[in-house]
Amino acid sequence: MSKFQRLLDLIYPRTCAACKKPLDEVRTPICINCIIDLPVIVNDTVQQRKIIQKFDGKVNIKDARSYLLFEKGNVAQKLIHALKYQNKKEIGVWLGRKYGEVSVKCGEWDNIDLMIPVPMHKRKLNQRGYNQATLICEGISESCKIPIIENALIKVENTTSQTKKDRYERYRNTANIFRINEEIDLKGKRVCLIDDVLTTGSTLEAAAAVLIENGCDVSIKTIASAF
Ligand SMILES: [Zn+2]
Repeated sequence: MSKFQRLLDLIYPRTCAACKKPLDEVRTPICINCIIDLPVIVNDTVQQRKIIQKFDGKVNIKDARSYLLFEKGNVAQKLIHALKYQNKKEIGVWLGRKYGEVSVKCGEWDNIDLMIPVPMHKRKLNQRGYNQATLICEGISESCKIPIIENALIKVENTTSQTKKDRYERYRNTANIFRINEEIDLKGKRVCLIDDVLTTGSTLEAAAAVLIENGCDVSIKTIASAF
């Protein structure tokens, strides 16, 4: 730890990004109790299978998995909130790193060539200053060593929040929101799309459809999934 960091810690004591209690650990953004409480979705469970079922009959993906269960008020929800709205970039990398470690052990990267973060619209990216999906990719790649292609997809429309719309409106809203970057040849590549949270799946579905149209095999991974 640098002198400057120690001084900062004295003035603004570090707190756990999930429970807000004082944080002693230097290397993690959350406390040991919250790490134990991480709502991990175990492979080959009903919950894990429900994730790929969200895409059934909509888009022909190879696989879809998530690391954590997203529920109102749980550790996953608090971490994602801090990552997206409180400028806590380190949480994205840390969550990616944790997910990378477990998914590599399960052989989930054996048949993947590239990782593609779901892009944000340029305007939103400028506002936030970072794409949380890219930070997650960076953390994951530490274990799996899969290259990240950040600009493979381009978000063309700045969609407003998806949460308050009905299913049809969401569908209309997400058709044609991504296009492929013509400068990158993805034909025949086995790609894994990465995002922070899977809710209805409509955004990921739109992104996957564009990649499939352009000759890719597509898998999906998100840090958390809501049911
Ligand atoms: Zn905590």
